[in-house]
Parts: sequence; C-alpha cells; structure tokens
Amino acid sequence: MQVPAYVEYEKAASVEHALALLTRFGPEARILAGGHSLIPMMKLRLAQPETLIDINGLSELCYLTVTDGELRIGALTRHAQLLDSAVAGEHFAILHDAERVIADPIVRNWGTVGGSLCQADPSEDLSAAFAALKATMVIQGPEGSRTVSAREFHTGPYETVVAPNELLTEIRIAIRPGGGSAYEKVGRRVGDWPVGAAGAAIWLAGETIAEAGIGLTAVGAPHFAAAEAEALLNGAPATEASFAQAGQIAAEHCRPSSDQRGPADYKRHLARELTVRALRRALRRAQAQDVAGRGG
Ligand SMILES: Cc1cc2nc3c(=O)[nH]c(=O)nc-3n(C[C@H](O)[C@H](O)[C@H](O)COP(=O)(O)OP(=O)(O)OC[C@H]3O[C@@H](n4cnc5c(N)ncnc54)[C@H](O)[C@@H]3O)c2cc1C
Repeated sequence: MQVPAYVEYEKAASVEHALALLTRFGPEARILAGGHSLIPMMKLRLAQPETLIDINGLSELCYLTVTDGELRIGALTRHAQLLDSAVAGEHFAILHDAERVIADPIVRNWGTVGGSLCQADPSEDLSAAFAALKATMVIQGPEGSRTVSAREFHTGPYETVVAPNELLTEIRIAIRPGGGSAYEKVGRRVGDWPVGAAGAAIWLAGETIAEAGIGLTAVGAPHFAAAEAEALLNGAPATEASFAQAGQIAAEHCRPSSDQRGPADYKRHLARELTVRALRRALRRAQAQDVAGRGG
C-alpha cells in the first residue's frame, strides 16, 4: 500500500486567504487542486509537502467567460467543465479536441485546468493547446497579479514561473477574427497520456496565414511550441505545401526521448505528421468560421 507522509491540511476560504496561507507556511506548502497529480506523487513520496492548501472551495476560480474580447478560464475550472463549455468550443475547438482525449471521466470531473498547467508534466495536453493559442496566464501573489505568456510559463519539466507564494488564477485567450484550431494526439490506449500530440491555431487573411500557433507535447519541444515552424507559416499561403514544410521543421526542432511510450524516432515522426493533421483541420475550421462570418 502506498501511503503519503504526514502532512498538515488547510482549507482556503478565498484567494487572499490561500495567498496568506502560502506565505505563512512557506515553500514546503503546496496548493491542492484536483489532486490527480499531487496525491499520487505524495503516495510515491516523490512529493512530500509539509502543508496542503486546499483551494477546492474557491468557486471564484471556477468559471469560463468571454470578457473584453477574451475567453477567460478560472484556474480551478475542471476538465469536464471546459469540455462542456459551448463558448470555449465555439471559439477554440482545439480545447474540446484536447479535453476529449485527456484521461477518463473520473480524472476530468475533478482535475483542473490550473493544476494541469502547474504540474508542468512534459506530456501535458493542455500545455500544448494553450501554447498553440498563445494564451496568457494570470498569476496572483502577495504583491498583486502579473501576466505571462504561455510560452514563458513553463521553465522546464515540472517547473513553472509560479513562485511558492503565488497562485495561478486565470488563463486568457484573445478572440480574433479568421481563426480556427485543432488538436491531434496519439496515445497507446484510450485515456492514456500522449506518445505525441500537436495542436494548431491559424488566423487567416484571405488565402494567407496571417498568424499561426503550433503546440507540441511529449516530444521535447521547448515551451511546448514549434516556434520555427510558426515563423515559416506566418504570411505563407494556406496550402498543403506550407503545412508539409511546417511539419518537417517542427519535427527537426523537437528533442524527443525514447521511453516506455515509444522510441524517439517514432515520436519525431508523430511531431511531423500530427502537426500537418492539426494544421489541416485548423484551416478547415478557420474557413468555416469565415463563411459563417464569425471571429475566433
Ligand atoms: C490516470 C490519469 C490519467 C491522466 N491522463 C492525462 C492525459 O492523457 N493528458 C493530460 O494532459 N493529463 C492527464 N492527466 C493529468 C490530469 O490532467 C490532472 O488533472 C492534472 O495533472 C493535474 O490537475 P489537478 O487539478 O488534479 O492538480 P493537482 O494534482 O491538485 O496539482 C498539481 C500541481 O499543481 C499545483 N497547483 C494546482 N493548482 C494550482 C494553482 N492554481 N496555482 C498554483 N499551483 C497549483 C499543485 O500544488 C501541484 O504541484 C492524467 C491524470 C491521471 C490521474
């Protein structure tokens, strides 16, 4: 039987209270969101926090809204809520694509968007989806709040810019006209972590790609993004030839490792192929938005 080490438990009553508790208990305290990553790590003694600060009562961090031209997602929003959100799916289909293939209903019912991002697992699906969408993260600390781009948020495997006395509170994605997005994942079995996955977002200006975002996960892409492939696409015609070139560049710039999920060569192949598939589907969706006269 796996049993976590002794730990103190505090229940936060508000964001301010959570921040005060983080300051009071110091760097050995950890936020408890859905617990789907933290509790297993505690059972294996890979994490041994002295204090857990439970934020599950903070309904003010649990929302999806469109405000000032942005989709805003509270950090405590559960995977299942994101999957059920019509407004998220309407503007950013990639989020529904990704959520449909994250774990299983039990994990999705309680695991949170913020917990997924803060866990910073190198195979996390939402990290790639938000990288593709060029999202912005809102982080709150004792001195107030600050924002960082999705590309700056992760500093390495299991590491983020969120300091021990700070809380991720919100994710923001700008809603822009001419946009379409998609996510493609290959896993060993249904509900498993990805062997490799790619997300794409495209904003069109006529037949040209005004801007592209490509997120990759589980293949060793820096900051979960394929920046060199995006640079090739920005201003390029929205064609199969452009997508093939982007896929090739994405594969060349990632650094996959061989592990129990598959050999590095296969993961590199997935980076190329899934990038092309995601771009293709994102383009179809951007064109459909255009016909419908909608933004996003
Ligand atoms: C069986 C299983 C299968 C899974 N499959 C997948 C998969 O296919 N794809 C995928 O992407 N994920 C998968 N996951 C992970 C799942 O998405 C979890 O929800 C996620 O890892 C963590 O979310 P959580 O809310 O449970 O976070 P927790 O476990 O509560 O916390 C994780 C970490 O983040 C910190 N934290 C949490 N919230 C905040 C916050 N707001 N501010 C600062 N720090 C915070 C915690 O202190 C902790 O260090 C799987 C998990 C399980 C158990």
